[in-house]
Amino acid sequence: MNTKIAQFLVDRQPETPCLVFDLDRVTENFRSLRKALPLARIYYAVKANPAAPVLNRLVDLGSAFDAASIEEVEACLAAGARPADISFGNTIKKARAIARAHAAGVSMFAFDSAEELTKLAAHAPGARVYCRILVENTGADWPLSRKFGTSIEHARALMRRAADLGLDPFGLSFHVGSQQTDPAAYRAAVARAAMLFTDLRQGGIKVRMINCGGGFPTRYRDDVPDVDHFARAIMDTITEHFGNDLPELVIEPGRAIVGDAGVIESEVVLVSRRGAETDLRWVYLDIGRFGGLAETEGEAIRYAIATPHDGTAMGPVAIAGPTCDGADILYERANYRLPIALSAGDRVRLLATGAYTTMYASQGFNGFAPMAEYYI
Ligand SMILES: *Cc1c(COP(=O)(O)O)cnc(C)c1O
Repeated sequence: MNTKIAQFLVDRQPETPCLVFDLDRVTENFRSLRKALPLARIYYAVKANPAAPVLNRLVDLGSAFDAASIEEVEACLAAGARPADISFGNTIKKARAIARAHAAGVSMFAFDSAEELTKLAAHAPGARVYCRILVENTGADWPLSRKFGTSIEHARALMRRAADLGLDPFGLSFHVGSQQTDPAAYRAAVARAAMLFTDLRQGGIKVRMINCGGGFPTRYRDDVPDVDHFARAIMDTITEHFGNDLPELVIEPGRAIVGDAGVIESEVVLVSRRGAETDLRWVYLDIGRFGGLAETEGEAIRYAIATPHDGTAMGPVAIAGPTCDGADILYERANYRLPIALSAGDRVRLLATGAYTTMYASQGFNGFAPMAEYYI
């Protein structure tokens, strides 16, 4: 448990649920990624946590930004990012959003279809564009790719078309899936992108950049490989394909920058068995799926939970949120165990909840306000 956050919680006793977030951890995570992959430019994936203090800290560190919407582009600009350091990385953009970003000086855009290229050519003429290719998401706890990316064959044709439309066919990108725990996924994806890159070059297209996306994992309930393993997978494969003539490299970490910087404090609302003594214990917290814990969908992301009774006898539990919705169950099948002594009124901590939480909260479903946020 982060001592700065623990101290804040003891001193301030804030109302729950709340996120307490250690900005110095962002600095540490950013520096370890930069050290592991010194040749890659870091574009922080803003959607993981777009809070102004996080963006400000990253601007100070010299980060670039991967924005998913015009609102995120504007949040980066407001934090002091230069337009040249912002990539509009969503492959699905309104024409108006493209035009506004272009007018603001953003010059790098993602696409994965001919239809989106047409929009880009019309509303961001001459921009640098990069094509997202489809790669395996095996090994990722939170896969992404069915919705985005195109085949190698289609990407090859689209990059030519980009040039024909007067755009700059700048690069190729992929995403191996979020919370990717297998470095081999990067090896396979980089190899795929590298082959297409070489092909395009030979065909006279002046592609220059490979964007390896995000996916770098955070430690939740289970251990994950160190960032160096992922860096080595990427660099070994890049070197195998390109020798000394390296393309520009980009990574877009989200989770790995902010995930372990935050802790959510929550209050236990009820512990009950709703029947026989032998029934499963249900623990209801004051935060759930609609309070921001969307990544518990399918019990995919399994947060570590600390309680005031840790070290005492444990027993199996199901864990749920406070709303009147049947989907508001966090964990039922993931073999969670919590202390037998846990009871209503206890405060528990969901660890490493700095990524993909605050912005997933509903507007106030059932009247429950979104969690408060403290950036320290
Ligand atoms: C969400 C996203 C990221 C960040 O992914 P993480 O797994 O959080 O690192 C990066 N790039 C794109 C295009 C994304 O959509």
